[in-house]
Amino acid sequence: MGCKNVMVYVETAESKPVNVGLEMLTAAKEVAEKVTAVVIGAADAAATAIAYGADDAITVDAAEYNTEAYAAIVVELVKKYAPEMLFVGATPNGKDLGARVAAKLKAGCVTDVIGMKEADGKIVLTAPLYGGTIYSDVTVEGTVVAIIRGGAFKKAEEPDTAKEGTITAETVEIADLRAKIVNSVQEISESVNLEEAEIIVAGGRGVGSAENYELVKELASLLGGVVGATRPVIEEGWVSRAHQVGQSGKIVAPKLYIACGISGAAQHISGITGSDYIVAINKDEDAPIFEISNIGIVGNCVDALKIMIEEVKKMQA
Ligand SMILES: Cc1cc2nc3c(=O)[nH]c(=O)nc-3n(C[C@H](O)[C@H](O)[C@H](O)COP(=O)(O)OP(=O)(O)OC[C@H]3O[C@@H](n4cnc5c(N)ncnc54)[C@H](O)[C@@H]3O)c2cc1C
Repeated sequence: MGCKNVMVYVETAESKPVNVGLEMLTAAKEVAEKVTAVVIGAADAAATAIAYGADDAITVDAAEYNTEAYAAIVVELVKKYAPEMLFVGATPNGKDLGARVAAKLKAGCVTDVIGMKEADGKIVLTAPLYGGTIYSDVTVEGTVVAIIRGGAFKKAEEPDTAKEGTITAETVEIADLRAKIVNSVQEISESVNLEEAEIIVAGGRGVGSAENYELVKELASLLGGVVGATRPVIEEGWVSRAHQVGQSGKIVAPKLYIACGISGAAQHISGITGSDYIVAINKDEDAPIFEISNIGIVGNCVDALKIMIEEVKKMQA
């Protein structure tokens, strides 16, 4: 094993671990002798973390996410338990938390980690640079915070609910906070859970029009999936920004990603490399999207969408 102990911050939403929290446990098990999950403000999620691979778990009671408070808690736990590495998921809160914890600990911080291996007894973390056009390998020494991209690792297929592990409740005193959350309101907008979707049907500029884009939506709906889009599609106003996939959109990791009329620019590809299976439809046989797709269909994506919709309807009839 490349390291003795890894601490994994398992973020929760509505008291349940988010996917990347559980995925990181799989990664941690591969490189560490001991994996400790940290759950803040949602003690019930500790048992789930153990069932998904943690050897033991630490819970801390706290109100909803606040960077200063959560960072203070994690820093105290790292000081007390002295893990060699801390894993934090690259969610909006995770990116915020991981960087702050690393700074407070004067530890190294590797962001957007998508791979991990051992070499000469050391851990090597892989992270994309320049919008995913190159990958860098970072050899880890000393305490390091790794901020890990969702979908880069797979969570255990089935939780082992019989697995035993110690759950320790810790209390961390928080000094006066400079910022306090006085109220939080749910944004009234379309809710698009691209990050957790198992099937995504995405359209690019090649779809041609808002009218044609309805076909992308229809296929996604028939397959029980979610609609994705490239940036030009957002700029055209065919769908809302919440659907954007890529470097400045969402990073996704579905089982199936159907890319219609998408060229495969690095800024889009960097958001979809965690997909299990990519089907690309493009009229240009040299389109870069074909380099990363499992199945490539050269042709008009509007025609292909109509055929797929018809066939799925027949199968579902
Ligand atoms: C800082 C920065 C951040 C960015 N972030 C993102 C991001 O998060 N997400 C993102 O997507 N982009 C992002 N971009 C934009 C990115 O560089 C590309 O411009 C964009 O991904 C291209 O989108 P597209 O594939 O839809 O369009 P295009 O590149 O124009 O490709 C359209 C494709 O459709 C094909 N086509 C045309 N007609 C048909 C048809 N009838 N049937 C089948 N195929 C057809 C064409 O052959 C072509 O390959 C970013 C750019 C920058 C500079």
